[in-house]
Amino acid sequence: MTNLTGFNFIAGTSSAQGSTTFASFNPRTRTAGDVQFHNATAEEIDRAVTAAAEAFEITRDYSTAKRADFLDAVATEIEALGDELLQTADWETALGLPRLTGERGRTTGQLRAFANLLREGSYVGAIIDTALPDRQPAPRPDIRRMLLPIGVVGVFSASNFPFAFAVCGGDTASAWAAGCPVVVKGHPGHPATSELFAGAVHKAIEKCGFPTGWFSLIQGNTVEVGQTLVRHPKLDAVGFTGSLRAGRAIYDTAAKRERPIPVYAEMGSINPVVILPGAVSARAESLAEGLVGSVTLGAGQFCTNPGLILMLKSAETEAFIGLVRDKMAAREPGVLLNEQIGSGLEKAVSATLGRGRVEKLTGGEVASGEGCRYTNTVLQTTSAAFIADSALQTEHFGPVTLFVMCDSTADLEAAVQALHGNLTATIHAENNELETAGKIFNLLREKVGRLLWNGFPTGVEVVYSMQHGGPYPATTAPATTSVGMTAIQRFLRPVAFQNMPDALMPPALQNANPLGIWRIVDGETTK
Ligand code: NAP
Repeated sequence: MTNLTGFNFIAGTSSAQGSTTFASFNPRTRTAGDVQFHNATAEEIDRAVTAAAEAFEITRDYSTAKRADFLDAVATEIEALGDELLQTADWETALGLPRLTGERGRTTGQLRAFANLLREGSYVGAIIDTALPDRQPAPRPDIRRMLLPIGVVGVFSASNFPFAFAVCGGDTASAWAAGCPVVVKGHPGHPATSELFAGAVHKAIEKCGFPTGWFSLIQGNTVEVGQTLVRHPKLDAVGFTGSLRAGRAIYDTAAKRERPIPVYAEMGSINPVVILPGAVSARAESLAEGLVGSVTLGAGQFCTNPGLILMLKSAETEAFIGLVRDKMAAREPGVLLNEQIGSGLEKAVSATLGRGRVEKLTGGEVASGEGCRYTNTVLQTTSAAFIADSALQTEHFGPVTLFVMCDSTADLEAAVQALHGNLTATIHAENNELETAGKIFNLLREKVGRLLWNGFPTGVEVVYSMQHGGPYPATTAPATTSVGMTAIQRFLRPVAFQNMPDALMPPALQNANPLGIWRIVDGETTK
C-alpha cells in the first residue's frame, strides 16, 4: 500500500487532529498495516457537515446534467485507481481479486446508471394539477409537485462490500444523484480502501467544479465517531448497511435529536428458503449444491445469505439435509472479513445452540488453518421450537444455515407466519405444487422485500425494478430500497407549489416542460 496518509478527508483537505488511531488488518495473515488511521474528532466532523451544508446552498441549483457528469467522472476516477484499489481491498478484506473486480464493475456501473437516470430526468416525479377557476363551490388552485434533494446525507460504509456499499457505493451514489452532499463514515475494516476512494472523488470534484464540501470521508473505529455524525444538527438523512445492533442505535439517536431525521438502515436478515417435497424429489443434488454455494459465498458474509431453510419432515428431507451437511463439511471455510465478524459469529452460533432445542449437524467452531475462519455450519431445529423462540431468528453473519423441520403444511405455514421482517424469501417447488406454494408465497410476501422462485437470494441486480429492503428488522424504512435506481427516492423530498408564477417554478414543473421529462398533467402521463 503506497502513498496512504491515514488522515481524514474533510472538504478537500487532509486532517488528522485525533490522537487515537487504528490500523488496517489483514484477515488472511492476521497482521496489521503500517499506516495509522486517525479517528475523526468532533471538530473535524463538524467541519465536514458544515462544509456539506454550505455546498448544498450552491449545488441545489445545479442542473441534473452537471450532477450526471460528476457521477460519470467518479466512475472514471475509480477505474483510474487500477490494480492498487483491488489489491488494497483484497489485503484488507480477503474477498479475493475476482470478487472485488466484479464488485468494482458493479460500483462504477451503478454510478453511471444513476447518471443516466438524471439525464432522462423523470425521476423527479413531476405531477401537475392545473387550476379550475370555475369549479363550484370554490375554485381549485394550480398545484404542482416534484421531488427535491433532502440535504446533507451521512453514509455508513458496510464491511462486507468495500466498494458497492462503501465510500462510493449505492447509498453515496443515490444521495449524490438526488443532489445531496455526502459525509461518509468509513468502515474501520478497510480504511486504506476508503482513503483511495476519497482521492478519486476529490479528483472528480475538481474536474467537475463542485464545491469541496460536496464530499468528506471521516475515518473511525469507535462508536463515538458515527454517533457524533448522526447527532450533528446540520445532517438531514442517514444511509447505513450493517448490523441490527448498530443500525438500531443510529436510528434511535436520529429519533432523539431535537430535529429527528430519516435513517435508511439495511440491517440483519436470515432470508428464509422454503423447500417443498417435489423440489427435493426432482433435483436434490443440484438443489443442495446451489444452496451450499449460496450459504458459503463470500464466507457467508452477505445480507442475502440463506440462513434459514424450512422443510416438511420426511425420509427424503432427512436425506437432503444429510447431503447439504456433507457438502458444507467438505468445503474449505473461507476467510472472514475481520476478527470481530469471527467472534460475533462464534457468539451468535453458541447462543443459538444454547437455546437448547437446536442440534448441530456440522461445523459450529472456529476453523483451523491460516486466517480468520469459521467452519461451514449446519444447524437443525423443529417448527415448534422455532415458533416458540424468536431468538432462533438471530442472524449468524457467516457460512451458517438453520434447517427447520415442519410436521405438516399447517406447521410450515405457522413457522412462516412467525417470521420477522427479512430482505428476501425463496420457494423451491415443482409446478404440481403451485397451490401450496402459492399459499406460502402469500404469507411470505408480508415479511420480505423480494420473493424468489426456484433461485438463490445471494446476488442482487442493480436495476430499476430491484427491491432490496423489507420490514423491520431487515430495515428501518420498509417503503424504500437501498439497491437499484429507486434508491434515489430515499434522499428526495416532495414539495408542492401552489399558484406559483411559471418563471419562479423549477424547470421540471414549468408549462413548456423545458426538460422534456415525463409528467402527470391533470391525470395523464405526458411529455
Ligand atoms: P456494524 O457493527 O453494524 O458496524 C457498521 C458501522 O456502524 C461501522 O462503521 C461502525 O463503526 C458503526 N457503528 C457500530 N455501532 C454503532 C453505534 N452504536 N453508533 C454509531 N455507529 C456505530 O457492522 P460490521 O462491523 O460490518 O459487522 C458487525 C456485524 O454486523 C457482523 O457480525 C454482522 O452480524 C453484521 N453485518 C450485517 C450486514 C448485513 O448486511 N446484514 C452487513 C455487515 C455486517 P465502528 O466499527 O467504528 O464502531
